Amino acid sequence: MRTLIAATLAATTALPALAEVNIYSYRQPELIQPILDGFTEETGIDTNVAYVDKGLVERLQAEGARSPADIILTVDSGRLINAKEAGVLQAVEGGALSDNIPATLRDPDGYWYGVTTRGRIVYASKDRVAEGEITTYEDLADPKWKGRICTRSGTHPYTLGLVAAMIEHRGEEETRTWLQGVKDNLARDPEGNDRAQVKAIWAGECDISLGNTYYMGAMLEDPEQAEWANSVRVTFPQFEDGGTHVDVSGVAMAANAPNREDAKAFMEYLASPEAQKIYAEAVYEYPADPDTPPADLVQSWGDITPDDTDLAAIAAHRGDALRLVEEVNFDG
Ligand code: FE
Repeated sequence: MRTLIAATLAATTALPALAEVNIYSYRQPELIQPILDGFTEETGIDTNVAYVDKGLVERLQAEGARSPADIILTVDSGRLINAKEAGVLQAVEGGALSDNIPATLRDPDGYWYGVTTRGRIVYASKDRVAEGEITTYEDLADPKWKGRICTRSGTHPYTLGLVAAMIEHRGEEETRTWLQGVKDNLARDPEGNDRAQVKAIWAGECDISLGNTYYMGAMLEDPEQAEWANSVRVTFPQFEDGGTHVDVSGVAMAANAPNREDAKAFMEYLASPEAQKIYAEAVYEYPADPDTPPADLVQSWGDITPDDTDLAAIAAHRGDALRLVEEVNFDG
């Protein structure tokens, strides 16, 4: 009855409908539940989550002006930039978003904002690699690593992000030489995901691998994979003239968001120190807000000095990165 009266009121007067935000999430809903609860508690605004792991842009395009989506949660600056270029996002300016999120981790026009960051790091065998033996990405091309490196495909967005960052730092010619050097050092043709490379180190197939930081947390949670995780050390290579390559998990507002104000409140909540802490802990990533410390487990892997090159500038080299990966036939 109460619902009916409220619905009648909403339909016949200017009273606002019940506040809610509709989220399309590339993240499993369980992972972001603590954030959703915190947001509703603080603002009284409800959330609805649809888990969309593939075809997010296509779905938004197909729904067009009738799309219920207010908020997009996804990973990787490449995906966020694709969504912007596809016209399915809208710009959001100001507030806690620009105050708390560094300019290098958000779109210059406000179309997407990094919420957390992940390092593209090297997992090194505790038994076969000495501490301090690998300190730069450039070093991965050194013949001393011949037959000792494992990695996933060169065409995966994670690899392309790193290669694009190398182009930004060293230029295309040096990056091609470097990429050829890394390929020459591979223990096997690229295959599998980041965790599969750590398993290969555990199994003795290679000594170092490229991977994202949060997989260490994810592997430690899994009874079988914990053994793999415990066989390696997290090391933080840097560019010779920069820091450790990072990418983001980010948030954006959908172009046709029906609940624009509430959606903006959600984005600002994500940038708040409280939400930054909860979210980063849930996904084993680093808060984008430099004033919020990472979780104890994440901190226990060591200090990260993130490369402070603009993600948008790096992403501009992704096409060239893919071309180089194909030119050196990286995947064999
Ligand atoms: Fe991942």
